Amino acid sequence: MKALYLEAPGEEPDLQIRDVPLPEIRERDALVRVAACGLCHHDVAVMSGMLRRGVRPEIILGHEISGVVQQVGGSVQSLQEGDRVVATLTAFCGECDRCLSGLQYRCRQGQGVGHAISGGFAQYVALPATSLLPVPDGVDIVEACVAACPVGVTIQAISEVARVKPGETVLVVGAGGGLGAHALQVAATQGARVIGVTTSPGKMQAIEALGNVEVILSTEDLDFSEIAMALTGDEGADVVLNTVGSAVFNSCLASLSQFGRMVVMGEVTGARANFNLTDVLFRDATIAGSTGTSPSNIARALGMMSTGGVKPIIHERMNLANAAEGFRLVRSRNAFGRIVLIPPQA
Ligand SMILES: [Zn+2]
Ligand SMILES: [Zn+2]
Repeated sequence: MKALYLEAPGEEPDLQIRDVPLPEIRERDALVRVAACGLCHHDVAVMSGMLRRGVRPEIILGHEISGVVQQVGGSVQSLQEGDRVVATLTAFCGECDRCLSGLQYRCRQGQGVGHAISGGFAQYVALPATSLLPVPDGVDIVEACVAACPVGVTIQAISEVARVKPGETVLVVGAGGGLGAHALQVAATQGARVIGVTTSPGKMQAIEALGNVEVILSTEDLDFSEIAMALTGDEGADVVLNTVGSAVFNSCLASLSQFGRMVVMGEVTGARANFNLTDVLFRDATIAGSTGTSPSNIARALGMMSTGGVKPIIHERMNLANAAEGFRLVRSRNAFGRIVLIPPQA
């Protein structure tokens, strides 16, 4: 099969398509023919060399996988050839304390797909059958690749970490990115008032077209909290979803209401946040981190996608061989939503 390999990370990473044998499946695995695999900031961070920890050498990257089951191992009952599936972000044991409490994405023996075990930037991927969820009829198999990350990841942050309630105000910072564009929609399904912050004038129209979303156009060095305060009658936002990280941390903090919650969902630059703890104290604020998502939230994501509550935002479908171009596009931040890589469909 054809698979994409990161030969050398860097500002211009060396990405090559290699011909390799089909992955072997064990008793409990399924072989999936990959329909699409999203190109996430996580992959881009590995390709650029910013993120190295836990990435096994010679691994095939890519964790946002949709496809069709080609073959199943001897003990697999839950799947059969031809089933349309999406993958969880982590292969999990199903038996440890975390798995048993619904936190499979933090399984004690968990292995990140496209990180510790090979992922979806290839024609085929072998995964445990428990890591594959059925795609409902009516959801396009290519669009389905965003169900776990980013859609499921935003559901987790919004409904389980921030616990957004109807009528609350949610500020989504980095609204034009893959996480942000879906977070806006998921927050709206929870009955929240949704305000997006973007630094890309070219994305404003597309963000507003998602419906029920107000947009703040910011710049790299603008403190958008003054606008957020003005839009909320000086109350601030109940929840701030920070998909950008340290670069906007202080503006996010200053945008929070009394008892506000900030959920940090990404770190784009790898820099440090430097802030005054009294800003947290006197707001009675909560700052939490959230990445990953459980199988139940991936199933919720697929449900929202099949009813149209959440529309998958795909900037471009690109051939796997053009991954380097996708890398540049993600880094330029000119993409609205996800770049999706399509392996040769042989
Ligand atoms: Zn991702
Ligand atoms: Zn486990």
